[in-house]
Amino acid sequence: VGADVIINKTRWDGAVQHWFDAGATLAQYRTMVINHEVGHALGHIDNETPCGGNKQAAPLMQEQSMFLKECSPNTWPLDSELWSTFVGSEP
Ligand SMILES: [Zn+2]
Repeated sequence: VGADVIINKTRWDGAVQHWFDAGATLAQYRTMVINHEVGHALGHIDNETPCGGNKQAAPLMQEQSMFLKECSPNTWPLDSELWSTFVGSEP
C-alpha cells in the first residue's frame, strides 16, 4: 500500500489455476493484476464491492487471485468502481 505498485512475480509468471479454470488467459490475468494494484495506489481497498454472483463480472478490487466466488474473471473496473479518491489532496 502506498505509491508503489508491487506485483507477485510467481503469479505474474503463472497466474492461478482457478483463473484458467474460469476460461481466462495469462495476459488477462496480468492486465487484472496491474489494474487491481493501481487501484490500491488510488486508494481502493480489497473486496470493497461485493461479487454479484451468478457469473457476473467480478469487481476489479475483488481479490480475484484468491477467489472468484460465483463471479467471472474481470480485468477492468466495473462502472460501480469508478469513483474517485482524493489521496493526499482535498476534493
Ligand atoms: Zn488487493
